[in-house]
Amino acid sequence: MQADLLFRGGRVVTHTGEFRGGLAVSDGRIVAIGADDALPSARREIDLDGRVLMPGVVDPHCHLGVNYDYDEDMRTETAGAASGGVTTVLLFIRNPEGSYIPFYKDRRARGEQQASIDFGFHFGIQREDHIPEIAQVAAETGVRSFKCHMGYERGNPIGIVSSTDAWVYGAMREAVKLPGGVVSVHCENTDMVELLKKEMMATGRQDLAAYTESRPTFVEEEAIGRMIKLAELTGCPLYIVHTSVGRGPELAAEARARGIDVTMETCPHYLLRTAYDEDLGPTAKISPPLRDLEQQAGLWRGMLNGSIDTLGTDHVPFIKTGGDLWSEKPGVVSFNWELPLMLHHAVHERGMSLSRLVQLNSYNPAKRFGLAPRKGTLAVGADADLVVVDLDEERTVTPTGKGTCLYDGWTLRGWPVMTVSRGRVVFENGEVDPDAVGHGQCVNRPESERS
Ligand SMILES: [Zn+2]
Repeated sequence: MQADLLFRGGRVVTHTGEFRGGLAVSDGRIVAIGADDALPSARREIDLDGRVLMPGVVDPHCHLGVNYDYDEDMRTETAGAASGGVTTVLLFIRNPEGSYIPFYKDRRARGEQQASIDFGFHFGIQREDHIPEIAQVAAETGVRSFKCHMGYERGNPIGIVSSTDAWVYGAMREAVKLPGGVVSVHCENTDMVELLKKEMMATGRQDLAAYTESRPTFVEEEAIGRMIKLAELTGCPLYIVHTSVGRGPELAAEARARGIDVTMETCPHYLLRTAYDEDLGPTAKISPPLRDLEQQAGLWRGMLNGSIDTLGTDHVPFIKTGGDLWSEKPGVVSFNWELPLMLHHAVHERGMSLSRLVQLNSYNPAKRFGLAPRKGTLAVGADADLVVVDLDEERTVTPTGKGTCLYDGWTLRGWPVMTVSRGRVVFENGEVDPDAVGHGQCVNRPESERS
């Protein structure tokens, strides 16, 4: 048998360890994996020359089509992600207008015309009637992940509706009935944020740290604790998005020790930037906010000791006004640089194993959101979603796309040099294949379509 594509001579890294060798791909799936002499020949053979071969990044957290047109974001941002070694992105997406069933059909069809890599959805609970619809949405769309927002006060600049505790509790009570059901929560106490923001605005401060100090760590810690309590009461798996506080991973570890199913995510910006960095101003506004070195140290502890489970970029391309701090839209972009940032700062600088990085970046998010064993792992039968990494390549971050990048001009060591999505090379020689537009498929399928 001749395979379509063969990689050999590499350092193959999975979530459980690594070995020397490679793998073969046919019809978009991995058909053989192991030592070089055990692999079949292929139409295209790539000698990795000792470079790293890993599962493509499964980014569980992004927002596309929020400020720019959805179709345009799906085209430009998934191509950017492909250049960063990302092979699946999951969108937190909201339909404040009504039901998610027609919404899914529309967003899936438009996404599949534009995306260069695979994508999927988490649906935001934005109305009370989104809650009783959960079981039917899961059956008719395959989406079993629902998000409750918090910390967005009334009149916020992006029109997000924050959940009450009753909405979270109600959503959890429905999601727990689904196999693989999970509720994600943005943990910040909305009422306290509203009060403290008003007080901070009255001081007239416009610096980035004023925003941070108007949403202190206890606002997030309190909400994490409360959400863990609701997960315990309902038995529903809880996914805590974009944790910015060092106490977060400890709270998650304590809850897990009591048998509560809690997954904790953080983002590169909370690990690498603070609100007190001199080169950052109001355009670096993010929700929750950038914090300080002490919180960062706590997050790195969680990254290295296993109490943080996943990394998400929270990538959202916004047109920032550069004006008033309080009306600025919160969010930054990092699809293209998340992997090099982690190769540099986690692997090279902090000694994190590549295998642990694969857990954070690929295996754990795929498993949490029902994509395993097709995604997030290297095994016979899995989708050939791959990234080849050159650990020694040094390059400087030079953002050319949409949104605010917090790493402009940073020189990083360790970059993706090739990305493969379901067996198709979508990025190599520094270029994303322009013909890959429309190759991406939606990973959430209705029951009627599942084989
Ligand atoms: Zn987000």
